[in-house]
Amino acid sequence: MKGILTTYGAYLPLTSHTPTLTLGEGDTPLVAAPVLSRETCADVFLKLEGCNPTGSFKDRGMVVAVAKAVEEGARAVICASTGNTAASAAAYAARAGLTCAVVIPSGKIALGKLSQAIIHHARVLPIEGNFDQALKLVCELAEQGSITLVNSVNPYRIEGQKTGAFEIVDELGDAPDILALPVGNAGNITAYWRGFGEYQRAGKATRRPKMFGFQAAGAAPIVRGAPVESPQTVATAIRIGNPASWRGAVAARDESGGLIDAVTDDEILAAYHFLAEREGVFCEPASAAGVAGILKLARAARLPHGARIVCILTGNGLKDPDNAIAQAEMPRALPATMEALTGILDL
Ligand SMILES: *Cc1c(COP(=O)(O)O)cnc(C)c1O
Repeated sequence: MKGILTTYGAYLPLTSHTPTLTLGEGDTPLVAAPVLSRETCADVFLKLEGCNPTGSFKDRGMVVAVAKAVEEGARAVICASTGNTAASAAAYAARAGLTCAVVIPSGKIALGKLSQAIIHHARVLPIEGNFDQALKLVCELAEQGSITLVNSVNPYRIEGQKTGAFEIVDELGDAPDILALPVGNAGNITAYWRGFGEYQRAGKATRRPKMFGFQAAGAAPIVRGAPVESPQTVATAIRIGNPASWRGAVAARDESGGLIDAVTDDEILAAYHFLAEREGVFCEPASAAGVAGILKLARAARLPHGARIVCILTGNGLKDPDNAIAQAEMPRALPATMEALTGILDL
């Protein structure tokens, strides 16, 4: 794997002084989803962003942000995070030899993500507050100088993340009819829309997709049209009440003729289990929001028949093992005998 700086360098704000940092990000699988296609009467593909080096799409933006930080002489990077930004920043900072600090909402980040930040030796700073408060604090800190902010308000993040759109067009030969994805801080929907636009202008695609973004019902400021003071959802990666790229998301929706809608935690978890049980794909809860959204639209007969849809599965299910086993009953240990196994299996 060459990484996105090498593969898509012509579309990125690189100079001859930008280091070609990579951990092998990008080039993620785009797999057909036959059961989901049948269920929605559409032609659905899943983009497995959990296959990125740290297990989420955040690596696409982080590799550009950290490479530019190195180019600009930074010694340290900082971010606020619901988990995946921290994991990605910690890994790329380690790779680039930078110090990394991450500010996280105490007790609200999935175990896998926390373990990544710790093992890559980031300074982990939990606060008694939510993501929105953490972001406000790190923005103020970064304004004081000496440390580079690598949240998606850093424009290099969005630049890197748009490469997901390039890969979809490169693989399918053109843009799909619909792109469905979860919306949290709204950087990714903004980035994909930019990517499809740039590829169309470059003559690589004849059209752009409708952008379908989905927020969790308990954290749906864009759907409601106002910030949410204390957002709540099982999908911690999109537990955000005042998205930084709010305007980018609204532009993507309106310019594409798409929509931004809310899905409940029950709908998110149903899609999460559906993907794991029926398609063999284990993503984290937030990642299932896009699939929950198209299942909901299909049931309401609001999805065009036969539409080609790409769902962005933003992060790997192993990020949040607690959620996978939370509702499950742990099977009891059996005697180590054939009788015990065959008695139970009943095949
Ligand atoms: C960051 C993240 C999101 C939300 O992306 P935004 O760019 O903040 O809208 C969704 N899913 C996962 C797994 C994430 O890590």
